[in-house]
Amino acid sequence: MNISNAIKKIQGRMNRACEKAHRDPQSVRLLLATKTVPVEKIKEAISLGYPLIGENKVQEIEEKYEGLRSIKHEKHFIGHLQTNKIKFLLRYGVECIQSVDRPKLVKKLQNRLAFEKKEIDIFVQVNTSGEKSKFGVSPEKALDFIQYVSTFERLHIKGLMTIGLFSADENKVRACFALLRQIRDEANQLALTQEPIRELSMGMSKDLEIAIEEGATVIRVGTSIFGERPFPDSYYWNEG
Ligand SMILES: *Cc1c(COP(=O)(O)O)cnc(C)c1O
Repeated sequence: MNISNAIKKIQGRMNRACEKAHRDPQSVRLLLATKTVPVEKIKEAISLGYPLIGENKVQEIEEKYEGLRSIKHEKHFIGHLQTNKIKFLLRYGVECIQSVDRPKLVKKLQNRLAFEKKEIDIFVQVNTSGEKSKFGVSPEKALDFIQYVSTFERLHIKGLMTIGLFSADENKVRACFALLRQIRDEANQLALTQEPIRELSMGMSKDLEIAIEEGATVIRVGTSIFGERPFPDSYYWNEG
């Protein structure tokens, strides 16, 4: 399937899920998960009216940077971020890091941002499925961690991000997304951040409907738009 038809299909799925959940389709943004996707294809997708992209590896951001400069877009980082890559990441106009998940990363980010006199939007990644293979702060520690991050003035917490359980059991998948929403609502009730946290980044090719029903404001889709990737996802989610 070509990219245009694939995106139309995704937009149709988003619209139907919003209708079912009595939500405004404008309240959910589609993030193009562009790992391994070449610049020309990314540009094609962006030009169809989807300017938000997400990359998993700093090196790929670097490689595609020049090629994407001619087209207006918004870039988020959605992969596991090693602290020794922070200074490279900050060179390429990333507007939001969705995968902030540990104190050491927070401290190093703050230091580097101070050095460069910059600030950045972040999401806190929560490991709602509890699987060892996935990154993110544990749900039990999420509120403390959000409070901790909020003391670093160069990081602005805009949302929470999670990768749901990969399971055919819809209820188990749904529980992951509901948990993320619950953590956000609790953080807001406790006023842990200066501004209320609005965004929930959750839902991918296979489970975007469930995520939208549970309140996703950003869904991240790769495979259903660009096709299968050459490596298993564990390669992109793990260190190294
Ligand atoms: C690759 C990736 C996605 C998209 O997954 P698909 O199943 O290809 O839609 C979403 N989120 C993250 C963090 C990813 O690495």
